[in-house]
Amino acid sequence: MQRITILGATGSIGVSTLDVLARHPERYSVYALSAHSRVDELAAQCAQFRPARAVVGDADSARKLSALLRAQNIPTEVEYGEAALCAIASAAEVDAVMAAIVGAAGLAPTLAAARAGKKVLLANKEALVMSGQLFIDAVHDNGAVLLPIDSEHNAVFQCLPHTYGRAPGASGVAKVMLTASGGPFRTRAVDTLDAVTPDQACKHPTWAMGRKISVDSATMMNKGLEVIEAHWLFGVPADLIEVVIHPQSVIHSMVSYIDGSVLAQLGNPDMRTPIAHALAYPERIASGVAQLDLTQVGTLQFERPDFERFPCLALAYTALRAGGTAPALLNAANEVAVQAFLDARIGFRDIDRVIAHVMDSIPHGAAASIAAVMAQDALARASATSYVNGMMR
Ligand code: NAD
Ligand code: MG
Repeated sequence: MQRITILGATGSIGVSTLDVLARHPERYSVYALSAHSRVDELAAQCAQFRPARAVVGDADSARKLSALLRAQNIPTEVEYGEAALCAIASAAEVDAVMAAIVGAAGLAPTLAAARAGKKVLLANKEALVMSGQLFIDAVHDNGAVLLPIDSEHNAVFQCLPHTYGRAPGASGVAKVMLTASGGPFRTRAVDTLDAVTPDQACKHPTWAMGRKISVDSATMMNKGLEVIEAHWLFGVPADLIEVVIHPQSVIHSMVSYIDGSVLAQLGNPDMRTPIAHALAYPERIASGVAQLDLTQVGTLQFERPDFERFPCLALAYTALRAGGTAPALLNAANEVAVQAFLDARIGFRDIDRVIAHVMDSIPHGAAASIAAVMAQDALARASATSYVNGMMR
């Protein structure tokens, strides 16, 4: 029996994870669940999965959750705050941690899981983008196992040899090709993008996801973060990571080898496939996802990305090549800009302007420690926030 902690249980990935776990009660039990503020949903999950512990964002939410659980005689222990998140990620009772909090808030507990030598199922790409080598070192030094949940990286992982050791040349890897749907604005006239609303940006053509990653998909910053994520996961330099627009989202990514072979992983666009893959790895379990019918799909298309339409993708490559804390600056500025867009405080095309401003005005440094990364993260947030405020006046 594998005991699982889910960080971000009420989100899109968290709910899909619980769906897969519920199909295999003989293999998995839930040790702990976390949610930020959606207490009612978390209470319902506790009623169904009976975790030993549940963690929420603040004391108020903890009181509400405790009352809901008491009323149903559910003995789950309720805690709150970052230290509690780190505790459920690193507890001795836990075998695997699904890291599915959105954004920088997930870094500390995800890192705690790695430092405790857990099997880390990584959806929270922002944590790896920020901490890079520090995170990879924590995994290596503590005997943790890092398995990608992001569909592209899970696909690449499946297309690499089992013996792959983060050295592309040694395995004959020529390049990694990350596919991208192109989001909802792939063909929309660029000069009309300033007028798009948060709801339009969140209406993804092929995937149903949380609002932050949906906006990231619309700007293609999501793919930019994924380029950086691929660099750290697979030890592949920026020049060997290519983005290919593939609107059907059926090929989830590819690995190209020096002999001319290209291996791809295909499937219906449903995150339960990579979640089930990582949970059971190296075995296979049912996920609830329908088998792919290629005759129904009919056509697969591929295009080069348009860096003028999607400046965020170019900004991410620049940050990866700059190295050090540049990806942490990029990520923090993006989080502030996306939230401002979702709150209707800035326009869609302002998102890349905010990020470019922050990247230009704050010199990046060495990512020598998590404290150094967090200091740069804070500087970038302050700079992005004041720039957003200036745009609004
Ligand atoms: P979501 O918004 O649906 O859920 C986010 C979860 O994080 C919720 O459970 C929420 O309670 C929790 N959370 C939010 N802010 C928090 C905070 N400050 N502290 C603690 N917890 C907090 O997001 P999602 O779509 O499930 O995405 C989660 C992560 O997975 C993101 O990093 C995203 O990039 C990645 N991811 C998602 C998908 C997808 O299909 N949804 C695919 C690939 C990668
Ligand atoms: Mg992805």
